[in-house]
Amino acid sequence: ATKPSLRGRFAPSPSGPLHFGSLVAAVGSYLVARHYGAEWQVRIEDIDPPREIEGAADTILRQLESFGLHWDGPIIYQSDNIPRFNDILEELKQADLLYACDCTRKKVNQLSDDGRYPNICQDKRLSFDGEVAWKLRHGQREYDFFDQIQGHCQFDNSLYHEDFTVKRKDGLIAYQLAVVVDDIDSGIDHVVRGIDLLDSTPRQLRLYEVLDKPAPLWYHLPLAINEDGNKLSKQNHAEPIEASRASHQLHQAIAFLGQKPPVSLRQEPPEIIIDWAIEHFSLESIPRQQQIPYFD
Ligand code: GLU
Repeated sequence: ATKPSLRGRFAPSPSGPLHFGSLVAAVGSYLVARHYGAEWQVRIEDIDPPREIEGAADTILRQLESFGLHWDGPIIYQSDNIPRFNDILEELKQADLLYACDCTRKKVNQLSDDGRYPNICQDKRLSFDGEVAWKLRHGQREYDFFDQIQGHCQFDNSLYHEDFTVKRKDGLIAYQLAVVVDDIDSGIDHVVRGIDLLDSTPRQLRLYEVLDKPAPLWYHLPLAINEDGNKLSKQNHAEPIEASRASHQLHQAIAFLGQKPPVSLRQEPPEIIIDWAIEHFSLESIPRQQQIPYFD
């Protein structure tokens, strides 16, 4: 197999400071990139203002620096690319790959037993103006894929055949579209992120298909869950990581990824711990984790 060579990335949403779960994603993507001698880009995914917290983007960048995670090139702010996303949406619309949908969440729930959108507006030819979501027409194949950590990943046809939203009813660009366009434009050839995004990958593969671009390699990391069995997230107020405990928490994150850092490393500054982890990195040692059902 040829080694991926160009670029990896960490793409946090500025909805709060990094917590242990997001630190694991940052460290995992950093180690994979450095292991392959690739660049590591940081992209702030700031296109969902209702979920954003003022100052969070700067906090995240300071946290990364204090944990010894140094990025290459300029920081990308996704909001700068909104005109680009709209151009792509226009192209997809011209190609009749999109349609407008005026369904409410309530209506979808009434019509579907699994919460999936039953593609009811596909032939209605509703106007794209006004309060409608823009849906991408589904493809005709299965979007199974090979994950570098999880192995072969397969889902129900109901996921493959759901027309999903690329522009939201509130006018905001949907995550799926923005992430794929930015990864393509930045030449990202390996995507490392939490396994909670595993079932977004078939949708993103559909987007790579309609945009006629090669998909990256995928690496979905195990998810840190709390004592109650819930994933750590900004929504359930996971504790932010702290610069004063950077060495300890970095050591923990690396160990969480199945690497075996010596205990003595904990006394060292973050840069030394990271250097050890790059040098001793073993992809095979990252634990797999069962896929966790997740609906957006
Ligand atoms: N911005 C997304 C998040 O914070 C991650 C995007 C990705 O890695 O694909 O959950």
